[in-house]
Amino acid sequence: MQELTGLRERLAGIEERIARACQRAGRDRQEVTLIGVSKTFPVTAIREGIEAGLRVLGENKVQEAASKIPELSQLCASHGVRWHLIGHLQSNKVRRAIELFSMIHSVDSLKLAERIDSICGETGERMPILLEVNLGGEETKAGIEPSAALELCEKIGQLPNLSLEGFMTIPPYSAAPEETRIHFRKLRSLRDEAIDLGIVSAGFTQLSMGMSHDFEVAIEEGATLIRVGTAIFGSRE
Ligand SMILES: *Cc1c(COP(=O)(O)O)cnc(C)c1O
Repeated sequence: MQELTGLRERLAGIEERIARACQRAGRDRQEVTLIGVSKTFPVTAIREGIEAGLRVLGENKVQEAASKIPELSQLCASHGVRWHLIGHLQSNKVRRAIELFSMIHSVDSLKLAERIDSICGETGERMPILLEVNLGGEETKAGIEPSAALELCEKIGQLPNLSLEGFMTIPPYSAAPEETRIHFRKLRSLRDEAIDLGIVSAGFTQLSMGMSHDFEVAIEEGATLIRVGTAIFGSRE
């Protein structure tokens, strides 16, 4: 249980830093949702996180999520906890992902969007999704090229069972958060461009960006969803 000690204190510290970043940027704290990224952490740690106040949790693999979320279903229901998928989604896992998650951040192709749309059509659901954008041009990273993002928004916007709500990015890693600012700013411009061109609907507002080491800069640049793992749960061994 070593890793659990201090979670409540770490979360309180993060809350304070979020509040200060919002203040610096002249933003309302309500505009920023903290997602506790619980990948690799056991159900015991997640339970502690929920009891300490986390209301949105993020996992990056469907299979791992499926082994943890059902065990927590009662606690999640009583505390109004929702789960977001933040990692790559394979088409053969879409059905399970729809059962487990209330938002998918990692849509990176029309084909995947169509698959989610089609299964939601069968089950009568509407899935909120984000488009993952690869801003750093890194070939190893998932996500669509920024130059293809707007056209894809237009096409995905036609799918009746999806609610396209914004963009997500994982910028190239830099130990200095200030160096990442330019990428966060780029994602925000891309969102604003999509809005200005009128190719997205009114619900297109979200920017999922910022992790443990750079969430404050992300908030200053307009993040609405920040994905924080190690700073809450401790290091992943
Ligand atoms: C693991 C992960 C995070 C959280 O990273 P930390 O550095 O632990 O905060 C955020 N986003 C994605 C997509 C991840 O896979």
